[in-house]
Amino acid sequence: MTRIVAIGEAMVELAPAGGPDMYRAGFAGDTLNTAWYLRKLMPASDQIAYFTAVGRDAMSDKMLGFINAAGLATDHIDRRDDSSVGLYMISLTDGERSFTYWRGQSAARRMLDSDAPLRAALQGADVAYLSGITLAILPEPDRARLLDVLRDFRSAGGKVVFDPNLRPRLWPDTTAMTRAVMRAASVTDIVLPSFEDEAGWFGDLTPYATASRYRDAGVDIVVVKNGPDQILVATPDLSCTVAPTLIADVVDTTAAGDSFNAGFLARYFQDGNLEQACMAGARIAGQVIQQIGALVEVSMTDPKRR
Ligand code: ADP
Repeated sequence: MTRIVAIGEAMVELAPAGGPDMYRAGFAGDTLNTAWYLRKLMPASDQIAYFTAVGRDAMSDKMLGFINAAGLATDHIDRRDDSSVGLYMISLTDGERSFTYWRGQSAARRMLDSDAPLRAALQGADVAYLSGITLAILPEPDRARLLDVLRDFRSAGGKVVFDPNLRPRLWPDTTAMTRAVMRAASVTDIVLPSFEDEAGWFGDLTPYATASRYRDAGVDIVVVKNGPDQILVATPDLSCTVAPTLIADVVDTTAAGDSFNAGFLARYFQDGNLEQACMAGARIAGQVIQQIGALVEVSMTDPKRR
């Protein structure tokens, strides 16, 4: 049995629901998306847990209910009296989506003000999964605490998987972001960056440059996603590329990277075959971008090819 703990922030999402000033409430967040897809794709005997903090109000109850109903373990989600969950609203102007956030005071931002809850959640786990957004929402001392816990987790045999998911808007400046990301890389076993972001904020000229930077920081396996272009895998023993099947009718790229990560990991944990894992990641992401919304039905075998 494999036990995975995804660490991050789930938020309330208010999405346009047809009429003027009509919105539908849902729940989303990059690490939650990946955990949600992992639960769909991994054998039922494996356990996928979500680690975050929520409040004690009705919306926090609803969020916990949603995470539970998705089949994710919620036993280590901290419930706090002092804050609630974050919220974002999607606005549509001439078909273009823009986002407004209310997350500055969210409970998740305080989930590492002590290391005990995360240490308890990682007890007996095989894999910890986090993203650059997990890092971004934490105050600096708590971010350092998180990395200390992950360092200890690795010393005890656990593996850390990290998607840098660079979001400069969440950071005071880009130097703070790139520094924190490379610090996290130093406690990471598998990193899953997206080339467009890495090129933009680290100035990488090619996916190979991205791979080298993370390999030099000590990451064992680097998988560089690149939209419709080839995925690059670099390890100490191998460097290869895998081409995703081109999707002509892309309708919504939300959660492409998050779902790729889940498909990749679910296949990787079967037998460690990296090429097959990239193909599985691309297959899942390919299905996601042909549907509207972050969380949609997917299958490990491409439904169009069955
Ligand atoms: P992110 O959503 O994190 O920016 P990418 O845009 O790199 O990530 O996309 C993640 C994965 O989604 C890619 O590696 C690829 O497998 C798949 N993907 C994205 N766009 C396309 C596309 N137009 N055609 C086929 N696959 C795509």
